[in-house]
Amino acid sequence: MTETIHIELSNQSCGAGLEYARRQFAGPPKDALLCCEGMCLKGETARRAANLIGHRLAPEKTVRICHGGLLEKSGGMRDLIKRAPKVVILDGCGMACCSRLTRAAFPDLQPEIIFTDKMTSYAGNPFGIDEVPEPEITANAQSVAAAVMAKYYECCS
Ligand code: SF4
Repeated sequence: MTETIHIELSNQSCGAGLEYARRQFAGPPKDALLCCEGMCLKGETARRAANLIGHRLAPEKTVRICHGGLLEKSGGMRDLIKRAPKVVILDGCGMACCSRLTRAAFPDLQPEIIFTDKMTSYAGNPFGIDEVPEPEITANAQSVAAAVMAKYYECCS
């Protein structure tokens, strides 16, 4: 039997996040870009890559969505997902926290899921961001972002 948890959607929202979503909604639909919550090195790399793409490399084609936005009752980021041409998820490991949460919030969605830990090159088996020099994390995040850009946002525009 599958074990599940129940999460109530909330009327609460982050004010700045809601304003970001409103600004995004005033423009054309964009791909929704989600990622692992980023507690560990693998997740942090996924998170940084997602933010690089969403905020710096392809802000005209993608919009960042957070886990909290998935759990709002209405408005805000959920509406951006509903109208997104495509949903792209950067998961940091096989636990797939983001894609499982997204599927729970939107069962009919068919997101593109990328496991970014398969795309990084950390020696050994580090867990925390304190175990690796900062420039190495940045370089890995940039490398992941570049690969995602090449796959989805640089080939056919
Ligand atoms: S889901 Fe995986 S990659 Fe993400 S923070 Fe947890 S252990 Fe790290």
